[in-house]
Amino acid sequence: MNPIRVREQQQQRLQHLLQVARVRSSYYREKYRHIDPGSTRLEELPVMTKAEMMTHFDQVVTDPAVTRARVEEFIEDIRNVKEPFLGKYSVSHTSGSQGQPTLIVQNQFVLDLLFAFQMTRGHYGHRGGFLGFVDALRMLRLPARLAVIINQQGFFPSAWIWKRLPEYMHVYMQFLFIPATDPELVKKINDFSPNVLSATPTTLDLLSLKRDQFRLPHLRQVVTWSETLTAPARHRITEAFRVPLMDNYAAGECMFLTNGCPNSSGAHVNADWAILEVVDENYQPVPPGQLGCKVLMTNLANTVQPFIRYEIGDRLVMATEPCGCGNLMPRIEKIVGRAADFFWVQTAAGFRPLTAYPFQHAFDYRREVREWQAEQVSRNSIVVRLEPVPGATPDLIAAQRRLEERLALTGLRQDLDIRIEPVSHLEADPHTSKFRRMITRVGIPEDLDQPLRDVAEDFAHEECSARLSELVPA
Ligand SMILES: [Zn+2]
Repeated sequence: MNPIRVREQQQQRLQHLLQVARVRSSYYREKYRHIDPGSTRLEELPVMTKAEMMTHFDQVVTDPAVTRARVEEFIEDIRNVKEPFLGKYSVSHTSGSQGQPTLIVQNQFVLDLLFAFQMTRGHYGHRGGFLGFVDALRMLRLPARLAVIINQQGFFPSAWIWKRLPEYMHVYMQFLFIPATDPELVKKINDFSPNVLSATPTTLDLLSLKRDQFRLPHLRQVVTWSETLTAPARHRITEAFRVPLMDNYAAGECMFLTNGCPNSSGAHVNADWAILEVVDENYQPVPPGQLGCKVLMTNLANTVQPFIRYEIGDRLVMATEPCGCGNLMPRIEKIVGRAADFFWVQTAAGFRPLTAYPFQHAFDYRREVREWQAEQVSRNSIVVRLEPVPGATPDLIAAQRRLEERLALTGLRQDLDIRIEPVSHLEADPHTSKFRRMITRVGIPEDLDQPLRDVAEDFAHEECSARLSELVPA
């Protein structure tokens, strides 16, 4: 990909997106009313926050049939997970690990782009641009085999999205979707014999402990997503699987944002369809090589729910040098933050991590719940506190049932003692003055196997020392 051509395409697509937003979104029309309609200078446009997006959801979207109430009702029912919303859209929501969860509506074109990038720029050995003719023929004869390990069922914009692969793409790709809790996980992956193995870093890190049981002669790469990949975890995973690891950095709001780089720990921005701006706390640009405070993302492909200079809390460093892998797209050199929040619980099969996801999925969309907090009071006993929105009374029976459904999907339901209690107000941690949704009083188990302990501690120290002192009491 020629960088000048990429820049031209980016500008054309930005112009088109701005036009769609001005004409079909009453929110953007109002927001941009003081901006010269002829201007496409991104830095002149106001920033959009997650809270703004969710408060004005119905006015932001460009299809009047899409409303926040309808989307929320749709995702309330887990059976809809394989169905298109209104017969044509993919819907998902972010986890809320960075504050307010966001609802995301995407058209099929956005998903097609995601698949196309995965097949071309996401494939090891690829040298920029789309799949070559010879490569395509080779694939027709021998479709790529992608094994995707899914952590939980739901409308999270991660592995599940591959279920929406268009029919014609099945010529190129064969899939194995397998839950991380499957007792025959290793055997099923071996039998499928994938070229690509894709999962979250935590899952792959835990699987790398079973390295001796894997027989994967055709494996060419592993792909990680969704959480921070720590340097020690990267090392353990590549040691175990002995293939390049590509760490895709994306946001639910722009799933095709990057493809991991096979030569470095970074990821290349798909700059022909997305714009990433690294900025400081006052939204001023931060040059490559320096750590930003947040990023602004513009998704040039989604015209249903336009994300334009949309604020994401991640802290990034862009690379200053061209990359040795041959991909000329801008490269993210380092990503800070996004550590996994989890409890270690005891099961018959040993200690297992319980992430925040089941709780988020159970409570984030209950309209009467303003905030929740889970506290691990002893190893397998968890108290969940729910703070209702003013004037509302939380339905504790419904909340309990919903949480139990979510926990059953993790395979940990029968091991846990859960109590839900309403509180009038949840407080921030007095030491850090940050509000925490997951609090443990028991930390990492003393008799955790050393390799598992390494995994736990990496995830702890990467984020901040406050978290470490909490996980490992002095
Ligand atoms: Zn590269």
